[in-house]
Amino acid sequence: MTETVHVLGAGLAGLAAALSLSKDGRKVVIHEAARQAGGRCRSYHDAVLDRVIDNGNHLMMSANDHVFGFLKETGSVSRVAVSEPAAYPFCDVETGERWTLRPNRGRIGWWILDSRRNVKGARLRDYLQAWRLLTAGPDRTVADCLSTDTVLWRRFWEPLTVAALNIAPDEGAARLLAEVYRRTFAKGEAAARPVHVRGSLADSLIDPARALLERRGVEFCFRARVRSLDLADGRIAGFETTRETVTLGNLDAIVMALPSWSVAELLPEIAPPEGARMILNLHYLLDAKPELAPVTGLTGSIAQWLFIRGPVASVTVSAADAFAETASEEIAARIWPEIAVALGTPGAPQPPCRVVKEKRATFAETPANEARRPGPVTRWRNLVLAGDWTATGLPATIEGAIQSGRVAARALRI
Ligand SMILES: Cc1cc2nc3c(=O)[nH]c(=O)nc-3n(C[C@H](O)[C@H](O)[C@H](O)COP(=O)(O)OP(=O)(O)OC[C@H]3O[C@@H](n4cnc5c(N)ncnc54)[C@H](O)[C@@H]3O)c2cc1C
Repeated sequence: MTETVHVLGAGLAGLAAALSLSKDGRKVVIHEAARQAGGRCRSYHDAVLDRVIDNGNHLMMSANDHVFGFLKETGSVSRVAVSEPAAYPFCDVETGERWTLRPNRGRIGWWILDSRRNVKGARLRDYLQAWRLLTAGPDRTVADCLSTDTVLWRRFWEPLTVAALNIAPDEGAARLLAEVYRRTFAKGEAAARPVHVRGSLADSLIDPARALLERRGVEFCFRARVRSLDLADGRIAGFETTRETVTLGNLDAIVMALPSWSVAELLPEIAPPEGARMILNLHYLLDAKPELAPVTGLTGSIAQWLFIRGPVASVTVSAADAFAETASEEIAARIWPEIAVALGTPGAPQPPCRVVKEKRATFAETPANEARRPGPVTRWRNLVLAGDWTATGLPATIEGAIQSGRVAARALRI
């Protein structure tokens, strides 16, 4: 049994690992480079809008068992909203058409036959191509498996791929999208309900976990960037952070819950997935809360999702690398006209906006990178890996991050 477990990184993977370990009564210390926990899932006060905003809108689904396990443990299930029964309102910004995708109960997906539930304008035979996705080989991309000239592609598969995998469909690993589909829509309505936080990401996911960990005696060291690891024969002998040098006892261990790019710097031998994709979030401050569903899918547009958070219209653009060097004011001005259409106020003047660019939002979820994702166990007996980029079988998501942290903690018990 290990004595002190040092968790490197206080994102959701690190927090989930720390929850599992502290529940088992282990002594846990978390070392985090930033000033706060949450990593790529965080909130902060924005001076332009004078309110707390999230770094990016995060959509979860009712099938996310690890997310709900985490929320139950931290007493925060009531801090997320589950849309029940499952309903996804869509707006095609080019044509102004609106429809609501409503999967039915049970595994037999008859919703595709019902024009009040399915994708407007899509043909039955196009839905049947899902089979090609579900049986895709490891080297296939999403675009390899599905016809890309159909309405269903434009209004369902393409936005779903970009939203779930944060990558263009001609690059994205088909197997990852297939797994999302298998766990959600293929299981029926109850597994496919959209879930989003009621307040902020911090308030729902991060702060309750941190508070519980502190009650269990877990120590947080913030502003402690891990700079190097001391690699000994078959084990890690210690590590150095910007705050201290830590020497590991024989029974001490490390859960490395850092993003793939940090692991590549600290431990290149792991050879994690290479490259990342950007997500852009725009927060437009309106005069008042608009009459719209909390989450609307957008097609025929640059943006994919519109979240309504009080008077803030928060917009997500995934796989947004083309905007990496574009000025924020220009991005806000280009995207506003389509948001005005979705809000039902075409031509309205642009309100104040905060643009948040997350240049490394997720690793590049290609077939080649999928093959590079390692499991938790390493050749160093006191080091296990966690993080959304490890071999979870899922895209880089909150569900995958939490799962990875729990699996890594379990691997230390063996
Ligand atoms: C804008 C955006 C939108 C997203 N939308 C969704 C969504 O809709 N649904 C969904 O499920 N997922 C979404 N994701 C993905 C989700 O946020 C991530 O998969 C998840 O938060 C990753 O958690 P993690 O713990 O694996 O990594 P991280 O959150 O990156 O945590 C790693 C931590 O390690 C710290 N760190 C890095 N290097 C060092 C070092 N050398 N020493 C010490 N600490 C270090 C970092 O500061 C960070 O806190 C989105 C991500 C972004 C950025």
